[in-house]
Amino acid sequence: MSILVVGSVAYDTVQTPVGNRGDALGGSATYFSVSASKFEPVSIVAVVGTDFRQEHFEMLTSHGVDISGIESVKGSTFRWSGVYGADANTRETLDTQLNVFAQFTPQLGVNHRQHSYLFLANIEPSIQLDVLHQMQRRPKLVALDTMNFWIEGEREQLGEVLKEVDVVLMDENETRSFAGKQNLTEAAGYIREIGPHTVIVKRGEHGVLLFRQGSVFTAPAVPLRSVVDPTGAGDCFAGGFMGYLASTGDLSDDGFRRAVVLGSVMGSFAVESFSLDRVQSVSEEEVEERFRLITELTRFKPLLDRETLPFSDTEHQVH
Ligand code: AMP
Repeated sequence: MSILVVGSVAYDTVQTPVGNRGDALGGSATYFSVSASKFEPVSIVAVVGTDFRQEHFEMLTSHGVDISGIESVKGSTFRWSGVYGADANTRETLDTQLNVFAQFTPQLGVNHRQHSYLFLANIEPSIQLDVLHQMQRRPKLVALDTMNFWIEGEREQLGEVLKEVDVVLMDENETRSFAGKQNLTEAAGYIREIGPHTVIVKRGEHGVLLFRQGSVFTAPAVPLRSVVDPTGAGDCFAGGFMGYLASTGDLSDDGFRRAVVLGSVMGSFAVESFSLDRVQSVSEEEVEERFRLITELTRFKPLLDRETLPFSDTEHQVH
């Protein structure tokens, strides 16, 4: 069942230990839709300025993304710039220019209001809530991503949206910062009490944690030799995650676990190049190969029913 996403469509200027890229195609909705479109059709709701390049509309349509919900208005497209430290998990935002997003009030068409899967990608929480409220009926699954910029600047409004969503995705620093708790299990519990039944904590190269009703699951990141630009990894993760759930309709615990693994796989392609260069060209075989790799990375022999571990018989001497 196709997916509706609202989020940023942007031009990013990024510095990483490997190099720099200026005015590269980015944005949470852009990364998400190219990643998710490998599994299920996606429609975008967003706004761009008159400087948005035709070739970028064409790239999205070449992936089957429905761009009829992207408004073009006078002004500049959203711009973000950031710098990464030697450790790819640390990022500093240098500049955020909302530009045309500052005045954006989405108007959903009839066909967009009927999607069963809704992804509220990283953008101003009031825009996320507005889109959610315009849906004709409650979608089967609503997931939300956000960022420190909104956690710090629009905390109250973000809290309002959180009450109405099923799944929240945040990176580990955002999770701690929003919950005001260092311990991630405690922080995820705090967020789940607000409303979402599922909290996904992204930990970059350390993998991901999935907290659901009474269960915790973890998936590693794909070990990579070369990380070029971590930008968009979270959105591509969300694309693989939502793409799997929307395409299979499997919202069971096993379905969520597989979706998280597929998310990790799609995130791993995002970091291998600047912008969407690598994600765009990923083949089904490459996705399957990394999915199998994660299965192998986490495979071990479980304890059989009556089997015990080889404790030494000096255990009683340890105090
Ligand atoms: P990620 O690396 O997955 O967290 O997403 C990075 C993308 O988010 C970049 O392409 C940016 O254009 C976009 N972005 C950065 N800051 C914001 C913001 N405050 N609101 C919406 N999108 C943003």
